[in-house]
Amino acid sequence: MASKLDYEKLGLKVGLEIHQQLDTKHKLFCDCPTRLVDKDLQDEFERRLRPTQSELGEVDIAAYFEWKRGRIYHYESPRTSSCLVETDEEPPHELNREALTIALAIAKALHSNIVDEIHVMRKIVIDGSNTTGFQRTAIISLGGYIEVDGKRYGIQTICLEEDAARKTGEEGKKVRYRLDRLGIPLVEIATAPDIHTPEEAEKVALAIGQLLRLTGKVKRGIGTIRQDLNISIEGGVKTEIKGVQRLDLLPKVIEYEVQRQLKLLEIRDELRRRGVREEDLTYDFIDVTDVFKKTKSKLIRRTIASGGKVLAVRLPGFKGLLGVELQPNRRFGTELADYARFWGGVGGLFHSDELPKYGISREEVEKVYEKLKADPSKDAFVIIADKEDKAREALKAVVDRAREALKGIPKETRAANPDGTTRYMRPQPGAARMYPETDIPPVEITQELLREAEKLVPEPPQQKLKKLVEHHGLSKELAQQVLRSIHLALYEELVEKYGDRIPATVIANTIVSTLKALRGEGVPVENIEEHHIEDTIRVVAEGKASKEAIPEILAYLAKNPDKTAEQAVKELGIKTVSLEEVERIVEEIVKEMKQLILQRRERAMGPIMGKVMSKLRGKVEGRVVAQIVSKKIKELVESKENNKQ
Ligand SMILES: [Zn+2]
Repeated sequence: MASKLDYEKLGLKVGLEIHQQLDTKHKLFCDCPTRLVDKDLQDEFERRLRPTQSELGEVDIAAYFEWKRGRIYHYESPRTSSCLVETDEEPPHELNREALTIALAIAKALHSNIVDEIHVMRKIVIDGSNTTGFQRTAIISLGGYIEVDGKRYGIQTICLEEDAARKTGEEGKKVRYRLDRLGIPLVEIATAPDIHTPEEAEKVALAIGQLLRLTGKVKRGIGTIRQDLNISIEGGVKTEIKGVQRLDLLPKVIEYEVQRQLKLLEIRDELRRRGVREEDLTYDFIDVTDVFKKTKSKLIRRTIASGGKVLAVRLPGFKGLLGVELQPNRRFGTELADYARFWGGVGGLFHSDELPKYGISREEVEKVYEKLKADPSKDAFVIIADKEDKAREALKAVVDRAREALKGIPKETRAANPDGTTRYMRPQPGAARMYPETDIPPVEITQELLREAEKLVPEPPQQKLKKLVEHHGLSKELAQQVLRSIHLALYEELVEKYGDRIPATVIANTIVSTLKALRGEGVPVENIEEHHIEDTIRVVAEGKASKEAIPEILAYLAKNPDKTAEQAVKELGIKTVSLEEVERIVEEIVKEMKQLILQRRERAMGPIMGKVMSKLRGKVEGRVVAQIVSKKIKELVESKENNKQ
């Protein structure tokens, strides 16, 4: 294991961008409900998008390149959750008041300065996730802070914006989106780059998430909150990382990104030491198809058979550097491959640092070196097997990326992988990305709006903590965990509904510890949604399973998310006994131990419980048994005394 990096010394700066869906009745610019639907009558249509010029006449570079990829977007428009606004056949309606009020309340809670007037802007997005080619967004407030462990972290902006359409598939150049998510209000909170260690990032994100949930006005469940990161180190470049789904992954993503940037700086220094210059890296692509006429590589054979070519490019002075590991299992060669895939639409590439391998022989490698007039002791090469035009585009991207290596770290937007590593997503958008939305008039922030917002400002966490400890009887530690949990609102609902039959501590432990323990055991807890948890708690409340069976039921539902808790109980063969059955067993044992009871009275409780539970453990709550045992003892003792009289 590498020793821990000194992040302060490296000048690590991290800013967070948190996107949270609001739980409003309607979408941001129409009257559709804010609900995702899976099965519904729907219309379908296709579009190609083209980059529009901003009013300054500039075309956004990221948008332009995305368009150049020539994608076709296929939209599913469910009738109950989308209308002509989402399909861009009707102008947006006015800004949703409810969403605005919630956003203002959040701004107040973060001590942010609310603007006088809301102006809706268009932000170019051309990955097809919006039918219009832009996302509508409005600045609500500027500045502010959140305090975590006694330190203040600055807030830069709070925006209210529409969520994008939901990607449901991709085949070749065709990308499928569903419009039910498009237009759901999102609040976007961007922090200042005040975070200096990976652990701090998680704490700050937790605190912001908690504050949002305490409003009681935000959506819950998977995908309703998303975190983006901006990461830089001294001498590096600010890299954007999109879509970190789990908070506990944040520190890892940051650690890996710092590692990647440090390695890229090392590669830069090494290239400079070797005297490699930008002009040495050229678009001279050599057709090496004939080298592979008898290759054992199935992939190359298939490509050639279907009329494709094998093109190669020399990377002078790069020998050994393509194999340098930047992040676990991701080498510099992987970064080149990401570029080739993105810009050329190819499946991948081979580079000399990993060859001979994959059916490519030593002789073939030597021949490619020869054809490229390259020096095997100093140079590296990349080969791509595909249709010629695609291979060419891909190799251009490879050369461009290799040139960037001479400068250090390219300005990129990257996407988070589930293991905390990241991959190239697209270039960073330019400054020409925003222009005014003329279809929506500005909204003045009136005193009345601010008063409405004041009512929604969340109660401070300390106050909520007190309630959990004093009214629900949670330990302080458990209460703190519940308060941090994404399932806080669910917890409160469940206590309200089932608190008379199940202790609050059991519900709290289920959402806090049980899920965590199951994750540790490798159970796919990401499949567990709030309705699964509620279903499980209900089944226990109704006496169909004991609380000891909760982990087992949840593990089953994680693996079979379409099943119900009742089905889980049945399939798992979880046995419960009826209250009558419990009474019968208790009576039997009480009769058996009559002498003991008459001698010891209430003190006979312990031994009797032991005996009863040995028969009923796991099938019924100990608490329920204790009540019955106590009742039966009392009855026996009383009847004896009555007989005496
Ligand atoms: Zn609509």
